[in-house]
Amino acid sequence: MVQIAKRMESFEGYLGTEMNIRLTRMKEAGRDVINLGLGDPDVIPPLHLLETLRDASFHPENHHYPSFYSIKPLKEVIARWYGRRFGVTLDPASEVLPLLGSSEGLFHIHLALLDAGGIQLAADDRAALERVEYAPCLAGLFWLDGQVRLPDPGAVQSPDSAVGWIADNQRKGISPEATVVTVHAGPELSHQLFEAPEREGLAALQAALHLYLDRKARIVQAQLKRWRYAMPTELYPERNLLARGLPTLVFAGDAFGGPRVEGAALSGLLAGQSIAEGLSIPSESEKIIP
Ligand SMILES: Cc1cc2nc3c(=O)[nH]c(=O)nc-3n(C[C@H](O)[C@H](O)[C@H](O)COP(=O)(O)OP(=O)(O)OC[C@H]3O[C@@H](n4cnc5c(N)ncnc54)[C@H](O)[C@@H]3O)c2cc1C
Repeated sequence: MVQIAKRMESFEGYLGTEMNIRLTRMKEAGRDVINLGLGDPDVIPPLHLLETLRDASFHPENHHYPSFYSIKPLKEVIARWYGRRFGVTLDPASEVLPLLGSSEGLFHIHLALLDAGGIQLAADDRAALERVEYAPCLAGLFWLDGQVRLPDPGAVQSPDSAVGWIADNQRKGISPEATVVTVHAGPELSHQLFEAPEREGLAALQAALHLYLDRKARIVQAQLKRWRYAMPTELYPERNLLARGLPTLVFAGDAFGGPRVEGAALSGLLAGQSIAEGLSIPSESEKIIP
């Protein structure tokens, strides 16, 4: 069976299709409907145009695939029409592109125009985001053969020390089959060793862990993780930043209103609410059933 992409779930249908369904139902019910939808013409085009089209259809040279860039005379005529109708000057070569239709064009235009960093934030919003600061964290993961003796509940936290956190993941319940210990360097040591070779970072963390290892314990494997944006040290004061002067764009995360998973989750929930409001998504009870 053909799998439909997840993103299609957010499409409730095309307005034009919905209008056509209603139109068909009304006609079937015997209603006399004047169709003002989709800019449909209700008279045929001028006769001379139809005759020109008919004559052109008998010429073999008109039965090829068109150029991918569309033919030059067509683009020139379009540019002239825009000049006459709207007073706009367009370069037919670079500013006119016939498409399959305006819906297709609108659907694809963001792929052509949006680049990473291509959005201009309001100066105040940008300055507020630039004030947000994070401390990095070097974290070591040590798989042990043997015991680690950490005080209850299985962790040591010392925010003012070079190594701020040592935790037994087995007692935490996340590595039931092996003794795995996490060791975090504090902000200062993390800064100092962030770019250092892995061996050096691990040695500093291992030295702190050593104090808690059973005499017979042996390190089976060790890994170093470098978290560049580990702990927000300068937070944005509110739970979200809703960018001004742009289509709904919300900044959220642990640097907004409160750190750690709890702060990030609360910020994310509020962001979802702001986006729904910005898109005028009605709540379930407000949905209008056609
Ligand atoms: C080592 C460590 C241990 C921690 N332990 C705890 C703990 O025990 N309890 C606790 O409450 N908190 C803990 N925290 C903090 C907690 O993990 C964070 O506060 C929380 O994960 C932040 O959530 P967030 O959604 O703001 O950011 P993240 O969880 O960092 O999510 C950001 C996401 O954006 C993605 N991303 C980044 N750039 C782009 C891009 N350009 N395009 C697309 N995606 C991108 C990233 O890959 C990431 O998935 C810990 C943090 C660290 C570093």
